Amino acid sequence: MNKLSRIFRPFHIPPKKKIKIFKEKDTLSKGYKLLSNYGIIGQSSTGMYHVLPMGQRSIDKLIKLISSQMKLIGAQKMSQPLLTKQSLWEESETFEKSKDELYIITDRAENRFILSPTHEQALTNLLSRELMSYRDFPQLLYQITPKFRNEHRPKLGLLRSKEFLMKDLYSFDINEEEAAKSYNKVSQAYENFFQLIGIDYCRIECLQEQNVNRSHEYYYISDVGDDKLYSCDHCNSKFHEDYVRSKNKCPSCLSFLNEDHFVNAIEIGHTFSFGTYFSDHLGSCYVNIDCKRSPLHMCSFGIGISRLISASVEILSTDEELRWPLAIAPYSVCIIPPKAGSREEIEVELLLPKIYELLEGIPNLNDDILIDDRTEKTIGKRFLEAKLFGFPFIIIVGKDATQETPLYELHDLNNEKKYLMPMSLLTQYLVEQMHFDDSNINIVLS
Ligand SMILES: [Zn+2]
Repeated sequence: MNKLSRIFRPFHIPPKKKIKIFKEKDTLSKGYKLLSNYGIIGQSSTGMYHVLPMGQRSIDKLIKLISSQMKLIGAQKMSQPLLTKQSLWEESETFEKSKDELYIITDRAENRFILSPTHEQALTNLLSRELMSYRDFPQLLYQITPKFRNEHRPKLGLLRSKEFLMKDLYSFDINEEEAAKSYNKVSQAYENFFQLIGIDYCRIECLQEQNVNRSHEYYYISDVGDDKLYSCDHCNSKFHEDYVRSKNKCPSCLSFLNEDHFVNAIEIGHTFSFGTYFSDHLGSCYVNIDCKRSPLHMCSFGIGISRLISASVEILSTDEELRWPLAIAPYSVCIIPPKAGSREEIEVELLLPKIYELLEGIPNLNDDILIDDRTEKTIGKRFLEAKLFGFPFIIIVGKDATQETPLYELHDLNNEKKYLMPMSLLTQYLVEQMHFDDSNINIVLS
């Protein structure tokens, strides 16, 4: 049994009056405060964080979700060194424009390395050493590793930190047409992934940049976001602020801009189609059907994994209570048994392991149940804490469980519902609620 008393979770309930919520220019957001107060993350230094066991569970769930989507499109997982040779950034002409945000390391032999924020350079370099045949493509390669950005002004915890966990994928194809297929395939997988998390997101086309053929960004709308999007009330399209400001008109329906329709947003994903830019600079090619060398076409795709934790709780939580997307809550179910020494304690003693075992058999609930065994505390006190922490389902085994047909109190926090029901109905309810897989997801990209 997973026992709450054994988990390293520094839990602080701040005095009510002192809770300060996010204000413009504040470096703290409510999501960040909740994540640090309730033992999900701990600061190590400005802009760097320990992910504590509860936070790690959430991250592991995100990794599992994205990995299953990657498997469906045949992407292969790998790991690259965190350090990339600075010379590769210089050769690809990506060093100058980003050098202020890079951590640069010099080793004892005076070699200069970058603590990588991204790996287009390193991976293209790897492929330049392998002369592969056109038959070997497409290749979709991804990793989930720490990335680094020398933030001038880190803030909002995991939303803008110096080190962050990112899932980055690179596709290599033999021509533009094939590259477009890969781009759409991975984008579709990203859409499925965001659907599984369940928070409304938007995908917008980006302003054309130099060296980029196509690019899209994924956003959550939130006041604490650094980006500003324009949401057109005539045609419902969304665009990045940079894209509409200069034109003063909605690019889609050409209606005049309405100043009230700019919203803040958090970027959660970004995709690029680079064409042969990196291959041209770093010399990665393949052997085509006529036995000639031809440059590879690359796209890259990023999702901020640690940032998604912060962004999603920021959006779902209240000022005092954490709320999690069901798919990534550290534990989905918290069971609260009676207080030690109470009459109920003895009566439900034999019942508890049975309940635990029954719930463990529910699909997606295996190893996802936590029992709050700190029975020196009252049920009420533990329930309050469980609500603050935001376990999606809280089951109270109290007085009603001692009846001839035991009844259990079920709190479904995300749906704000409360029930008193026998175990048969309770398991049935959880089976329905925990049924989130991709069988019902099928969005077609325009
Ligand atoms: Zn419009």
